[in-house]
Amino acid sequence: MTAADLAQPCLPAPVASGPLPRHRSVGVRVGKVLVGGGAPVVVQSMTNTDTADIDSTVGQVAALARAGSELVRITVDRDEAAAAVPHIKEKLLARGIDVPLVGDFHYIGHKLLAEHPACAEALDKYRINPGNVGFKEKKDRQFGAIVELAMKHGKAVRIGANWGSLDQDLLTHLMDLNAASPAPLDARAVTREAMVQSALLSAARAEEMGLGKDRMILSAKVSAVQELIAVYRMLAQRSDYAIHLGLTEAGMGSKGIVASSAAMGILLQEGVGDTIRVSLTPEPGGDRTLEVKVAQELLQTMGFRTFVPLVAACPGCGRTTSTVFQELARDIQDWISTSMPDWKATYPGVENLNVAVMGCIVNGPGESKHADIGISLPGTGETPTAPVFIDGRKAATLRGPTIAAEFKALVADYIEKRYAVGTKTAAE
Ligand code: SF4
Repeated sequence: MTAADLAQPCLPAPVASGPLPRHRSVGVRVGKVLVGGGAPVVVQSMTNTDTADIDSTVGQVAALARAGSELVRITVDRDEAAAAVPHIKEKLLARGIDVPLVGDFHYIGHKLLAEHPACAEALDKYRINPGNVGFKEKKDRQFGAIVELAMKHGKAVRIGANWGSLDQDLLTHLMDLNAASPAPLDARAVTREAMVQSALLSAARAEEMGLGKDRMILSAKVSAVQELIAVYRMLAQRSDYAIHLGLTEAGMGSKGIVASSAAMGILLQEGVGDTIRVSLTPEPGGDRTLEVKVAQELLQTMGFRTFVPLVAACPGCGRTTSTVFQELARDIQDWISTSMPDWKATYPGVENLNVAVMGCIVNGPGESKHADIGISLPGTGETPTAPVFIDGRKAATLRGPTIAAEFKALVADYIEKRYAVGTKTAAE
């Protein structure tokens, strides 16, 4: 193709952009939060405290909720944990935190829920794994008991199949069928089918017992990205249950973030997923709320929801003479993160703000003009001044050692003028 070929006299036909239409799902109310049914994708998280330790669990649930988690799951693994749940709920409510709580049950959920009715009442959803709900003839009985309790207390249930604890009876049955088939599938394909069937068969059984679709959310978690995408595509194609997305055992640090974002990003783009959790393994002593931040940033950078103002910053290169712009970008980001809980009440809509912090004249002015407010710092050999652009127009030129403080003051002033209650937005 030549330059002449590229220089078309008119614009070419547009290329499709944006996500595919959302997978149609039945909405499920979990406490005050609607999951599925066209509602915005919900962010959830899970504590790693011992639930029997009431104060630690209250503290972590509060931190997760403050970070923006809209549902929080807690482990309910024994009597002491189940007995603690109503007290946790009570203490949270006393602190003004009414985030819905999800109880995570394995093996003895039927017993704990039956013997601790206050726990069953305090929770908003019960999460059960069809592979861990009992074995052989006990399986149906124990699963049925949990469904009965969910109906009795008017609660939602998440039926969560998991690659690591797959229903072995079902898997063996499908493997036998596959072996007898004239064109057998590979073992991974059979396992994927078992995952999907495990979730769907359990959901069908719960429905037969009387639990409505508007009380059920399904998940089928795997730790490998491509497997997860395949399994969730199958799940969405075959049902209209609300879907919880998550890559299980995603791992630590950048590995966990990248793997979760890659897998869930593709599925969300295809319209699959009504609620997400990013399962990160925290560093020892690390901040559990990182999983909430990553989930929010995934949804926001893909354009599905807005949670916090975005700071666009260039990566820096040989044209940046100092660390000033990195420090300013980090400073602004940190300031925004810590201010957001209060800003949400004072400045409705502030989450839509876009800030740019750029390192030199190459892309600095252009990128800053696209932001609501942006600064272009001086690069190597450039005049030591920093133009500030507000709503696309140059509004100030900063210089000297107080550039950072002055820019922050300009951002604060912009937020006050644009988002304070009773203020008309700049777009109006
Ligand atoms: S804006 Fe300037 S400093 Fe930043 S990456 Fe581009 S060329 Fe480098």
